[in-house]
Amino acid sequence: MNRSMKALVIGGGIAGPVAGIALERAGIDAAVFEAYDATADGVGGALGFAPNGREALAAVGIDIEPIAEDMDAFVMLSWTGKVLGEFAPPPDLPKQRMLWRTDLYRLLYDTAAERGVPIVHGKRLTGLTQDADGVTAAFADGTTERGDVLIAADGIRSAVRALIDPHAPAPRYSGLLGFGARVPGEGLDSTRRKMHMAFGKRAFLGWSVTEDGEAGYFINLPWKRPMSAAEAKAVPPAEWLRHLAAAVADDRTPGPELVRRTRPEDLLVTGALEDVPTVPTWHKGRVVLIGDAAHATSPSSGQGASLAAESAVMIARCLRDLPYERAFPVFERMRRERVERIIAMAARTNQNKAAGPVARVIRDLVMPPLMRRADPKRFTWQFEHTVDFEAPAVAGV
Ligand SMILES: Cc1cc2nc3c(=O)[nH]c(=O)nc-3n(C[C@H](O)[C@H](O)[C@H](O)COP(=O)(O)OP(=O)(O)OC[C@H]3O[C@@H](n4cnc5c(N)ncnc54)[C@H](O)[C@@H]3O)c2cc1C
Repeated sequence: MNRSMKALVIGGGIAGPVAGIALERAGIDAAVFEAYDATADGVGGALGFAPNGREALAAVGIDIEPIAEDMDAFVMLSWTGKVLGEFAPPPDLPKQRMLWRTDLYRLLYDTAAERGVPIVHGKRLTGLTQDADGVTAAFADGTTERGDVLIAADGIRSAVRALIDPHAPAPRYSGLLGFGARVPGEGLDSTRRKMHMAFGKRAFLGWSVTEDGEAGYFINLPWKRPMSAAEAKAVPPAEWLRHLAAAVADDRTPGPELVRRTRPEDLLVTGALEDVPTVPTWHKGRVVLIGDAAHATSPSSGQGASLAAESAVMIARCLRDLPYERAFPVFERMRRERVERIIAMAARTNQNKAAGPVARVIRDLVMPPLMRRADPKRFTWQFEHTVDFEAPAVAGV
């Protein structure tokens, strides 16, 4: 066990705090450094949490049950409201969960505090140096921190990724901008714990309405030019609401009503939905990437947060049992194939979401028989993954 090791974790989103908690459990001294002054660079709204992510968190004693709701199935519809297919994970698998992102942050931050893992805000990493004895992180406020290893959980636009590999690829635009809101659901049909998703005429809509009248939705809006979150947020929300209303106007879904019920101040604007299909360099010397920094999938996978949790737990397990020079390649070997397969799957879904008029007709014709005949294993393999945190990490496991 590496009890004398000190890990610097960069990024206080999802992967960072989970890594801190897992490292502490592994007997490794860890501290998390987050760029923003307050809790993570918040994309608010709802988050689909997959069974594999829940299992990964449970492996290090983080229980999301009190903040999560079961989702029994996904229902896919066309713009006419016709059900294209329904997908329910097999009964032997734990259910998909839905939770509010702010609740997850609070749970992770509270758990980190309880376990004595510091999360320090206002620390934007701008540089790093490594030598035979350790790694030094330099922050924008002029301070530095020294550790034995540095775990970069600094998200899809990772500064560390670019520092360890100046040729690392930039995020790829999916052709879609992201929006969402939590609105009053009175008078709307309950979705009965099923996530509904519609390939609308001009935009993709996902929504759920609880029995007690709370509704949440997201819209993926095809948009030619990528816009950063800051650029998209600079556009008045009332203007975005007009675009969204026009995009869903012809759809026979609750889309028009959900948009109508959204107050401009409640609209979540996330900007370009992106992924990074492959990051060639996951580690260099004492530095390793986890979460979106290493494997950013577009939100269409519903797996980004869960994969971030898995990797955070895995890296702690590897560092507990192996020196970092062996731990990092073993970590990469255990993770790369799985995460890149999920990233590719989500990218294919994005093509359907941004389909033009002809592709849309073909999609709506082809999808129902395909979904009926689809072998559930085509989807369930991603949920069946478990992390055995207690088992020693050895090469190849
Ligand atoms: C609109 C949208 C909807 C999504 N929906 C889902 C979903 O339903 N289900 C799902 O599983 N996933 C979803 N995702 C993906 C999911 O949010 C990410 O995969 C997940 O947040 C990755 O966690 P992370 O900790 O690696 O990165 P992040 O959550 O992005 O956290 C990175 C953190 O690092 C900090 N940081 C950045 N640079 C620095 C620096 N230089 N120094 C210090 N700190 C820094 C940031 O401020 C941030 O707090 C969605 C994403 C988007 C954009």
